[in-house]
Amino acid sequence: MLPAMFSAETLSEEAARHEVLLRLCCPMCGGMIVPAIPRPGVPQSGDPPATCLDCEAVYPWVRGILDLTRKDGPPAPRPNQYPFGGGVLDFHGFFAASLKTRAYDDHDLDDELFTLLGWMDIHPGAPVVQIGVGLGEATQILASACPESPWLGLDDDMASLRSARVALTRAGCSNVVLVCCDLERVPLKSGTFGSVLHFGVLHTLSDAADHLRRLAGILPVGGCLAGVTLARSNLPHLAAQQDVLGAKGGIRWVGMEHLARRLMGRGWSSLRHEQLSNWMARFVAVRAPLPS
Ligand SMILES: [Zn+2]
Repeated sequence: MLPAMFSAETLSEEAARHEVLLRLCCPMCGGMIVPAIPRPGVPQSGDPPATCLDCEAVYPWVRGILDLTRKDGPPAPRPNQYPFGGGVLDFHGFFAASLKTRAYDDHDLDDELFTLLGWMDIHPGAPVVQIGVGLGEATQILASACPESPWLGLDDDMASLRSARVALTRAGCSNVVLVCCDLERVPLKSGTFGSVLHFGVLHTLSDAADHLRRLAGILPVGGCLAGVTLARSNLPHLAAQQDVLGAKGGIRWVGMEHLARRLMGRGWSSLRHEQLSNWMARFVAVRAPLPS
């Protein structure tokens, strides 16, 4: 899809929520999530919480964000700040700053994001899930380019999501629904998203290949996953530096060749990756039929 569809009408928040809720499942039991039906005589303010039809777990909306974190404990904290030039940046800032170094003078940040959008091959109006939202900078650019699509943004950091919600509402991105959940095991039903964007969190998960193998199930056969991650450098001296930084900061620099080898024939085909710099890579993969 071309990213120039700004003239199309943006999906309303109500319609986006309706579309997205159908595709979520209970993180505790995998059951169906539905909006709670208000009880007669019980006053209700704000958004009715979502409830699981099977185990009856209740998941509230917190300032416009659906809190689908598991009831048996929040996800393990992951690093969301990266050292750069004597200071620290969030992943989006780090991504942007890395592309502004002299070696990448000819790279434009929006072009990089639109490359990912092109790889996802989104049909107009089809739902998209973005895993890793942070402060919502990339979401704002990409979801605005797909105004008819319900855009589900998942992150495990509620504080970041709150900032993202404010920024996206100000920007008029009514098609974006934000959900706080565990990113290792995303609470989505099988075959529900033909386009998945994995943005800047793969390197923080405990095992990238295991995570992507499980993730394959949420796409229909032929569905497309595109993303960007911190990646292990091919240069030994930089890879050694990454090992030191990774041990300190809890980051697992993803070896892209190794990842590709582990995924082939395990739910994915055509895993293509490009090392954008010595520090990060972008990738695209197509959901293959699982071997029977
Ligand atoms: Zn349940």
